[in-house]
Amino acid sequence: MPCRNCPEPKTCKAHIMPAALGKDVIEASGKNLTLLAPDRTGTFQSGLFDPNILCARCDNTLGDYDGHAINIIRLLGTVDEVIDRQAGIFSLSYSKGIDHERLALFGAAVVWRASASAICRGHNGFSLGNNEEWFRQMIFREIPELPIVSIARIMGRTPQEQKMADTAMLYPVRVRPNGSHISMAKFCLNGFMFLVQTTRNKTTIWSPGCVTELGKSAGVNYLTGALMPFERLGGLEDIKKSKHMRKRFPH
Ligand SMILES: [Zn+2]
Repeated sequence: MPCRNCPEPKTCKAHIMPAALGKDVIEASGKNLTLLAPDRTGTFQSGLFDPNILCARCDNTLGDYDGHAINIIRLLGTVDEVIDRQAGIFSLSYSKGIDHERLALFGAAVVWRASASAICRGHNGFSLGNNEEWFRQMIFREIPELPIVSIARIMGRTPQEQKMADTAMLYPVRVRPNGSHISMAKFCLNGFMFLVQTTRNKTTIWSPGCVTELGKSAGVNYLTGALMPFERLGGLEDIKKSKHMRKRFPH
């Protein structure tokens, strides 16, 4: 099958989540990765890739978003991060400047790759359905519209729980906030939770909290966002019951 974005017949190994972040997580966790897979088949892994969705050139286009996200995510837990638990927000500073639009496109690119990949769909069942083409047009900048993406910092209550939060990976799943008719895709990596709006709706209540609004409210050198308690992440009960987590939640 040719590339999903252009006629190029030769495709490459396209990672769903950036491979570098998966490696960071494995290094930090000593292979005790907190994998928040909805379907724990035992084959889900941090470095999931699909050799059939993108040619090298198109993979590189999205790799540009990945690269910026990797630089920002690696600031978590360093002196460049400030957590204000009282206000419920985090702030990251980056002297080279943060491109909030590129972070939003990164969120959408992860979601699009997960949807476009039959391999990933086979694992977690996530699909953008009819909106996959709309996402493709946004991430390859064929239309000026930007995705609505919120980035929250996952917070543990104890140092041990924080380590679990920082090594949590969740491939995109569909969520629908209570009482809302708007669908989102949620994914987690390396201490961040991303919420990507997957419903086409311009008059949304979510946009004030998104990375291109709240995210840059403190200026171009800062990323601001909400805190997300680790214990409130969906699916945590399943993780606690899973084989490799029993040691950490003994009973
Ligand atoms: Zn291509």
